[in-house]
Amino acid sequence: MNLEKLEKILKENNQPQFRLEQTKKAIFEDSVSSFSEITTIPLDLRKRFEKEIDILSFEVEKILVSNDKRSAKALLRLKDNNCMESVLLSPRPNTWTVCISSQVGCPLGCEFCATGKGGFKRNLTSEEITDQILFWRQYLNRKKFPALSNIVYMGMGEPMLNWENVKKSVEDLIDIKLFNFGSRSISISTVGIKGGIEKFLAEFPQVNLAISLHFADNEMRSKYMPANKAYDLENIKKDLQEYFRKSKRKVFIEYIMFDGINDSLGDAKGLAEYLNSIGNAYLLHVNLISYNKTSGEFISSSKNKIERFKNFLLQNRINATIRKSLGTEIAGACGQLTGK
Ligand code: SAH
Ligand code: SF4
Repeated sequence: MNLEKLEKILKENNQPQFRLEQTKKAIFEDSVSSFSEITTIPLDLRKRFEKEIDILSFEVEKILVSNDKRSAKALLRLKDNNCMESVLLSPRPNTWTVCISSQVGCPLGCEFCATGKGGFKRNLTSEEITDQILFWRQYLNRKKFPALSNIVYMGMGEPMLNWENVKKSVEDLIDIKLFNFGSRSISISTVGIKGGIEKFLAEFPQVNLAISLHFADNEMRSKYMPANKAYDLENIKKDLQEYFRKSKRKVFIEYIMFDGINDSLGDAKGLAEYLNSIGNAYLLHVNLISYNKTSGEFISSSKNKIERFKNFLLQNRINATIRKSLGTEIAGACGQLTGK
């Protein structure tokens, strides 16, 4: 929602200040899907808004809902015709999480990620980022479903490469006069970019941080995640050490399990050693994720192997859980987003 434009229209129409508050409340709190629903403002003003401004900065191209109804993926067409995707997930009954995109595509090209394989188009503006939340709030409101509780920046793109817009978007999400989310209900995921974690902690000490690690060996990580060549495991270790000097918040380590590539007990040992070498390992929590099929030749590790890997980590004082994958059938799961 372009608030500056909204304010401008109100000024041009000599409207009192409280009209702005009424309109903002209707859009951000009551999650109306159109101006015509805002019955607290005069009819001619509603009509004026409808003619001159859109609530969302994109058109909804399509929405796919999974058979179990626990996930939905929206393909959203931006004003410049680029498309992005945004996903709604229900990890538990009556709980909704939105997985939002921060870029159209991603320049980092991880081998296992459909977004990365599709290349990079452009950064999203902060408005395009937060409008994904407005959109899903409207969707839940229309269906009379419970409100949105969590937001994860785990859709398309690398948030730390679009920091200024991501920062503004988080500021708006936690603004009590706008979206009014608690910082702790927001998580940002990164592969590790120079200066990224430091800036993140300085601005948002209460927002959750997730690191997409996937490999605890530099050679392997560079092979499958080219960003590691510029910023490797040693750099990430230093960032986390610095993070824990300033904060005692838990950090999530994402680890996709690829059959025969990073799922042996030797790999588990390497990961435990790496994480223990950071210090404060009790503040780290490993999420073991099964690989979601994309175009690559990877295969997901078997349940048994994932379980064995988890047990090894637990025995070596590393917290670990297996994360269930939602949305695979609508290609709305992690790493499957392509914007097509
Ligand atoms: N670029 C950031 C934010 C996107 S998050 C990052 O990578 O952290 C997307 C998450 O999905 C990351 O943890 C990523 O590693 C994971 N992912 C990518 N491809 C995947 C796949 N095919 N199966 C499962 N997870 C995948
Ligand atoms: Fe980009 Fe993250 Fe996908 Fe890697 S996993 S290509 S960093 S979106």
